Amino acid sequence: MNTADILVIGGGVIGAAVAYGLTERGAQVTLLDQGGSAPNASRGNFGLVWVQGKGLGMPRYAQWTLEAAQTWPKFSADLLEETGIDVDYQQPGGFEVCLGEEEFSLRKAELEQLRQETANCVANSVGIDKCEMLNSRNMQELIPEMRLGDFVSGASFSTLDGHLNPLLLLSALTAAIKKSGTSYYPDQQVESISFRNDCFDVQTTTERFSAKKVVLACGLGIKTLASQIGLEIPIHPQRGQILVTERTLPLLAQPFVTLRQTVEGSFMIGASHEDVGLDCGTTLDEIRRLARHAVQVFPELSKLQMVRCWGALRILTPDSKPIYVESENCPGAFVVTSHSGITLAPLHASRISHWIAEGTTPEGFEQFHSRRFDA
Ligand SMILES: Cc1cc2nc3c(=O)[nH]c(=O)nc-3n(C[C@H](O)[C@H](O)[C@H](O)COP(=O)(O)OP(=O)(O)OC[C@H]3O[C@@H](n4cnc5c(N)ncnc54)[C@H](O)[C@@H]3O)c2cc1C
Repeated sequence: MNTADILVIGGGVIGAAVAYGLTERGAQVTLLDQGGSAPNASRGNFGLVWVQGKGLGMPRYAQWTLEAAQTWPKFSADLLEETGIDVDYQQPGGFEVCLGEEEFSLRKAELEQLRQETANCVANSVGIDKCEMLNSRNMQELIPEMRLGDFVSGASFSTLDGHLNPLLLLSALTAAIKKSGTSYYPDQQVESISFRNDCFDVQTTTERFSAKKVVLACGLGIKTLASQIGLEIPIHPQRGQILVTERTLPLLAQPFVTLRQTVEGSFMIGASHEDVGLDCGTTLDEIRRLARHAVQVFPELSKLQMVRCWGALRILTPDSKPIYVESENCPGAFVVTSHSGITLAPLHASRISHWIAEGTTPEGFEQFHSRRFDA
């Protein structure tokens, strides 16, 4: 039997960020990951640190995302200092592009609605005010190196948005937790959890672990394990396909929701939204659709060769917002899941780890409870 203060199940970017934060607080942490070919959103995502437009229908989420963006510069600097890994975080502002007047009007109305919903939330109205609608001429002035296509009507633009290299983020978090003494098992699939005498007993395919607290941060694996500790967590997979072009000169500093240029010079184009169960494959139809959209935004992208593509599975709740919850039947068992695990990484390492370690629930957290789906 292996024992720890806290067992974190799932070694993707969310489990790793939580484990990193817990270790920083002095907890003795064991991290278990299934490894192998399990779906892993943290290795297949788009790498945006994104604020604009988030939180419609849940002002607390808008505020949470804004806080994450504000914390990112220090978080990436801390990771660099501790591990020597630069995650390439940049915050040049980002665009959500609109093709045609109808898309432009819809986007404008959406942001206006968000502004009204968050009007009483001081911290957030600051964030929303940093987001503005630009017509294509104003937009072009910000992107002098690349000509916008004729269909582009404009975009929403926020100075808070940014991007990074998500693979380096996962590597940095993993390096940091290993360095700090966390016991890391990259090949332990958890099969069952039981709660007895205020203690959790976790059985993997080959070993047993016990701890006073357990954190379920294992993406699509959460649903099955959560039901064993009295929680119903309604998550489902959604596939996103991403394309990568050959490298070229640095032309575009600002990320778009649907395309961005990496530090190395490739353009990443994505991502689709497909309901295909656990299928991580790629399809010619989606690849064509994504490429066509990118070329409508920047016609000169048609000159670049595509060199890679992949599919990865999002972990989605019914309203696409996070679930942070502690089990009432089995106190000490937590679920942490979000569709924006890159954006929210600094808060998973700080505020969420504080909540788990100290038991102090952050303000307004009832909004993130899974009971919001009960009705
Ligand atoms: C196409 C796409 C684009 C995205 N773009 C962005 C973006 O631009 N910005 C952003 O913020 N977010 C983005 N996301 C979302 C982001 O990638 C996820 O929120 C994040 O990666 C989720 O991390 P996770 O650790 O919860 O899950 P995962 O990365 O899926 O990791 C879960 C881990 O748990 C392990 N596991 C599962 N079951 C068990 C078990 N029973 N026992 C032990 N281990 C287990 C798996 O092996 C896996 O390593 C995107 C996602 C996709 C798919």
